[in-house]
Amino acid sequence: MQSLCGRISNYFVTSSARRIADRRLLAGRSCSTSACVPEIAGYEGVADHGGLHGFSVAQTERFWGAVARSRLSWNSPFHTVHDCDLSQGKIRWFLGGKLNVSVNCLDRHACAFPNRVALIWERDEPGSEVKVTYRQLLELTCRLGNLFRRHGVKKGDCVTLYMPTCPLAVASMLACARIGAAHNVVFAGFSAEALADRIRDAQSSMVITVNQGVRGGKVAELKKTVDVAVQSCPSVKQVFVALRTENPVGMTSRDALLEEELQKEDVVCEPAAMDSEDVLFLLYTSGSTGKPKGLVHTQAGYLLYALLTHKYVFNYHDGDVFGCVADIGWITGHTYTVYGPLANGGTTVLFESTPVYPDPGRYWEMVQRLKINQFYGAPTAIRLLLKYGDQWVQKYDRSSLKILGSVGEPINTEAWEWYHRVVGGGRCSVVDTWWQTETGGICIAPRPSDPDAVIVPGMAMRPFFGIKPVLMDKEGAVLSTNDTSGALCIAQPWPGMARTIHNDHQRFTETYCQPYRGYFFTGDGAYRCKEGYYQIIGRLDDVINVSGHRIGTAELEDVVLILALPSCRTDVVGLLSRPS
Ligand code: AMP
Repeated sequence: MQSLCGRISNYFVTSSARRIADRRLLAGRSCSTSACVPEIAGYEGVADHGGLHGFSVAQTERFWGAVARSRLSWNSPFHTVHDCDLSQGKIRWFLGGKLNVSVNCLDRHACAFPNRVALIWERDEPGSEVKVTYRQLLELTCRLGNLFRRHGVKKGDCVTLYMPTCPLAVASMLACARIGAAHNVVFAGFSAEALADRIRDAQSSMVITVNQGVRGGKVAELKKTVDVAVQSCPSVKQVFVALRTENPVGMTSRDALLEEELQKEDVVCEPAAMDSEDVLFLLYTSGSTGKPKGLVHTQAGYLLYALLTHKYVFNYHDGDVFGCVADIGWITGHTYTVYGPLANGGTTVLFESTPVYPDPGRYWEMVQRLKINQFYGAPTAIRLLLKYGDQWVQKYDRSSLKILGSVGEPINTEAWEWYHRVVGGGRCSVVDTWWQTETGGICIAPRPSDPDAVIVPGMAMRPFFGIKPVLMDKEGAVLSTNDTSGALCIAQPWPGMARTIHNDHQRFTETYCQPYRGYFFTGDGAYRCKEGYYQIIGRLDDVINVSGHRIGTAELEDVVLILALPSCRTDVVGLLSRPS
């Protein structure tokens, strides 16, 4: 049999670009900052972070073309960097290129360092973490890919996942990517009705779940919720059930035990060669009209943006342990628990628990035990923990921490200061990262920037490479001065942005591209201070932000209905009290 490295060698067609970049570095023309992108360092006028950012927005094709060639492994190279017209909602990147996302996240690392830990599953029960190496994760993904194929999932189909954050969920996402199917991860706190809406809209024939979820010491009946949901989803032909607990669960002819089925599958699975613009996943988010929107992200652009933002916003280096505590049901879990870290060959923590289980020291005990270098969480959790007092933090050794990230909602100054002073001991940069499901990855954050560049508490501050934020007044005119507020738009496309809303491109263009024609409208308001840094004010529509995630009228109606049925209450409480 061909060796693992032999099998994937055809994916490595991009090393020449990296060699050129390395030569530029060796020639001493680097910008010598942590923000430096070696592929670009030799270009005229790129001497510091400002120059690099200016280059990335002015020379879009050169910037994104160079990093796409050197950071991703392609089956065949792209011929056109982008073909976009925001006013029409037309967004296409890396045309003509073919690649496989799972190969980029797994095979190339399993080949180079098979025993490096890819995932650390921080299970709900403290101290019972499970480590999964790149080789193991690749093999698990291949078995799943073969299983999905054997059960009829084809390129272009969509598999729904209703699972807690765990290695099988990550491998299922990657298995979809391997065989060319899209995934649709539904947050495992949503009700049967919300799940059914999303399965129907995605037209999934297969659902993957677990018998029961475990979170904060409490059991959630995920399989039972799936049973109710699929009653109104005629497209579903197969439900695979993994066992998270030892408790038996009712099975029908439609259901099969996932672990048993996986034993029958081979550990090698031929990756599909995907076009850059084929769909990678759908992820539903709330809109102001009630019907959730299935935002569509595609292959190459999303992966490149995830990889690059993960590397530069968090200054991620080989060997670091990255701890994003978001659930995989949200975009933060997709981009910064799964795709960004794995595309970078990193070690990523899958956090299954809550910030206060078994006590308010959970995060920091985990930081000590797993030696986490970058910690990424939500302001709601930080504010909650602040109230419990410093002793829960100080009990534990946090000297491994280098960067502290915040996401999902504005972080108030008091929480920011506490995060910086108490959690980070005043040593770590705190990065308040602004982005959304639609943007695919972080768009505004204090880093990357020059090493000593100021970080203002509670401000997202600086646009990422390729991002050109603008503020609009009520009449739709661009506000060009500083010390002003307006509707936050982004003036030019970037590779990580969503391409459309599943089955409703008109809604996509009406929501994001037409309010300010030719600009991407974020739905948020922002303030630009005298120095030109951005501070996010909040949503401009009637969607509320709960614990860092948008909840629209549909979910609120759902909650009101469920609260009328006392037996379902735990689901709702879980939904509203999730940490990130
Ligand atoms: P979601 O797509 O569900 O992750 O929600 C994205 C929304 O969360 C954004 O449109 C903002 O309203 C809010 N948000 C995310 N990050 C931040 C942040 N750092 N500061 C302020 N609001 C944020």
